Amino acid sequence: METEELPIQTTNSTVKHIVRILNVEDVTYNVKRFVTEKPKGYVFIPGQATDVAINKTGLEDKLRPFTFTSLNDWGYLEFTIKIYKGHDGITEKMASLKTGDELIIHEVFGTIQYKGSGVFIAGGAGITPFISIFRQLKLDDQLEGNTLLFANHNENDIICKAELSYLLGENCVNILKTPLDPNIKSGIIDTQLLAAYSGNKESYWYICGPEAFTFAMMANLEELGVRKQRIVIEQ
Ligand SMILES: Cc1cc2nc3c(=O)[nH]c(=O)nc-3n(C[C@H](O)[C@H](O)[C@H](O)COP(=O)(O)OP(=O)(O)OC[C@H]3O[C@@H](n4cnc5c(N)ncnc54)[C@H](O)[C@@H]3O)c2cc1C
Repeated sequence: METEELPIQTTNSTVKHIVRILNVEDVTYNVKRFVTEKPKGYVFIPGQATDVAINKTGLEDKLRPFTFTSLNDWGYLEFTIKIYKGHDGITEKMASLKTGDELIIHEVFGTIQYKGSGVFIAGGAGITPFISIFRQLKLDDQLEGNTLLFANHNENDIICKAELSYLLGENCVNILKTPLDPNIKSGIIDTQLLAAYSGNKESYWYICGPEAFTFAMMANLEELGVRKQRIVIEQ
């Protein structure tokens, strides 16, 4: 499904590719999966992202960053995107896109990538780089020794719940702030919880989520004496 057309060269020399949407489906009530064509020779590392725009008049230059949740070897691209309704943003417009509509994707960027086994701390849609990383690790038979701490408001917000639990088993730990099920204890990822996973000093700590979440997690890890070189975040 790789497209053959040449990339468009724009005036400022940045490379853009127009890709057709092949499929759109719901992942949760406010998250959609977009499958698109993959430009020939387009290469990324699991965890990386690109700027995306909608190829419609007036929207072509409204770029928003999104992470590939597909793997580089696949013949198509996949994005897993949380839709923010109720304000005039781009994801709200993306919610009405259908098969056959087009996106414009740009160069690949991103500093989140797998460096070695450790603890992955995700908040909400911050799970997306880890989806791609876990899928690759599964293929490479290297998932062992990795743990996911996944923070969400409630059960309905958990992206790719079944797949993550299949991939990581009991090392997939969901932490819900306001669980709907009264039998589930509410919680947040705090220093006390992280301390339970900080036994191995060689572990890497991967963090992805809203900015405030990332800063809070870094402060927690600092309190636990985790060295900065062991922490992987989007720069
Ligand atoms: C490197 C990188 C990779 C990313 N990858 C992904 C990914 O794979 N999947 C994904 O879902 N997201 C991802 N994001 C986040 C994504 O880019 C943003 O959610 C997206 O840009 C939002 O675009 P928007 O135009 O809809 O919202 P914007 O208007 O840009 O608003 C963004 C934020 O502001 C809040 N906001 C602004 N105005 C209002 C308002 N009036 N009412 C309520 N809320 C408001 C929204 O809650 C939202 O959090 C990534 C971000 C980065 C930096």
